Amino acid sequence: MNAEIIAVGSELLTPGKVDTNSLYLTQHLNDLGIEVVAKSIIGDDRSSLTEQIRTSLSRSDLVILTGGLGPTEDDVTRDACAAALGLTQHFDDAIWDAIIDRFSKFGRPPRDNNRRQANVIAGAEVLPNPNGTAPGLWLAPAPGKFVALLPGPPRELKPMVQDQILPRLRSLVPPSVIRTRWYRVAGVGESDLDALIAPIYTQYTNPVTTILAAPGDVHIHFRARTDAEPEAEALLAAVADPIVALLGDRIYSDDGATLEESVGRLLLKHGATLATAESLTAGLLGARVTETSGSSAYYVGGFQTYTNAMKTQLLGVDPAVLAEHTAVSEPVAIAMAQGARERTRATYALSLTGYAEGDQAGLVYCGLATPTGVQVRKLKLFGDRHRVRSLAVIQSLDWLRKTLL
Ligand code: ATP
Ligand code: MG
Repeated sequence: MNAEIIAVGSELLTPGKVDTNSLYLTQHLNDLGIEVVAKSIIGDDRSSLTEQIRTSLSRSDLVILTGGLGPTEDDVTRDACAAALGLTQHFDDAIWDAIIDRFSKFGRPPRDNNRRQANVIAGAEVLPNPNGTAPGLWLAPAPGKFVALLPGPPRELKPMVQDQILPRLRSLVPPSVIRTRWYRVAGVGESDLDALIAPIYTQYTNPVTTILAAPGDVHIHFRARTDAEPEAEALLAAVADPIVALLGDRIYSDDGATLEESVGRLLLKHGATLATAESLTAGLLGARVTETSGSSAYYVGGFQTYTNAMKTQLLGVDPAVLAEHTAVSEPVAIAMAQGARERTRATYALSLTGYAEGDQAGLVYCGLATPTGVQVRKLKLFGDRHRVRSLAVIQSLDWLRKTLL
């Protein structure tokens, strides 16, 4: 069975309001093995919505609408659905009584326009809404075709999905097992990564492979669907295991841990501590390390040394080295890392110095001081100021992670 979701509401077409209902619905549909093949957002307009419902029903088995069941003129979902299906509506006295009852609990009578919410499309089952006035509707307009109308407010929709929609769907679809695996990879661009692993994953349609990329950080998701658990695990292993072998230590997490969490776990495992010395990023690296709760167990602190004077004053970088090589240089990155390690007595210290903009934008030196010595790496990063700084943080953390492995 495949499904489509239509979120109704002009407010969802503004920058201020996000359609979160469809994410919630998709999660639960996927768990049942129902694939969501399209989602649309339609403003409060009767004819556009009627057209969308017709289109959706022509290509999908299940269409779930959320929103637009309210009492006002601009709540058009019931009318549009009736029009799309060529069905009439009738006034339902039992729903109206329930609406009167609900209003009396708040000490007032319903308004005339609330009567619209007691309209039922011919042949529909009424889905009670314990948290609001508008009930939902469930329709089976043709063999194998289903339509659900649900209210927009998430606190009304969610319990109705749990109590009304999912039980109906469970009886319609064969039981299926879904198993997933997630891997996160740092320091490889999305296209490079894809070129590497596509020859493997494109051989399989089950599991479905999804690649989500942020600068410097790529997440690979595998999702297998079968009727039995061992089979799902075997399908996952068939595609994921060779990819894991290929990517090796470039994978920093297989359980959802962030890069800084993975680094934190390794530091803890080694009983080691970390200090940072930042010019280019002025604290971003330290901030990133401390995103993880419990980071005080291994992060001792950092130095934000933006000017040459501060590099000398706080980290002991020799002014002569600064004068000879400039602040963005190998010797300075080394001296910063060494200075941070010596002054904090941390096991490891990372340093970053570089250009975020200008002629040499993206030239970055990263220093790493360890108990056995100090190393430096020259990075050439591409992108705007924000991206260069963020990539520098990721690459330095990933270097430390690989050193700790
Ligand atoms: P009501 O009886 O409250 O009018 P309704 O079914 O008509 O219910 P809407 O008027 O469309 O629902 O939406 C009411 C509120 O619910 C919106 O202001 C919005 O905050 C929230 N909402 C609606 N649709 C969504 C959605 N798809 N995702 C998240 N929130 C939504
Ligand atoms: Mg409304």
